[in-house]
Amino acid sequence: MTTSLSRLRSVAFTRQSGRCFYCNVPMWQRDPAELIKKHKITVGQAKRLQCTGEHLQARCAGGATLQTNIVAACLYCNGTRHKSKRPLSPDKYKERIRRLMNAQRWHERWVFKHGLFK
Ligand SMILES: [Zn+2]
Repeated sequence: MTTSLSRLRSVAFTRQSGRCFYCNVPMWQRDPAELIKKHKITVGQAKRLQCTGEHLQARCAGGATLQTNIVAACLYCNGTRHKSKRPLSPDKYKERIRRLMNAQRWHERWVFKHGLFK
């Protein structure tokens, strides 16, 4: 009965053309080397852009580990959302992040300087 999260994450990654559901920045799954080379970023920077599987409806709220409930999000967006005591809904959070991205007030400067957001 193992519906592996990593497999669902992988499908979501492909469906989203390798970009984060929230911030739309390119991510990596198994090996950051290509992303590092392409965008001339450091290993530490790449770490934040690791692809993670995000439950749209949280597991603790009854959200299932099914394809329809899983999106691919970068480690930074995923982690930051869950730091909040009362996390915003995925749609609200996405809206907020897209707005901040357009104002270059999400992620760090290098994300914009190295052409990861267009
Ligand atoms: Zn993100």
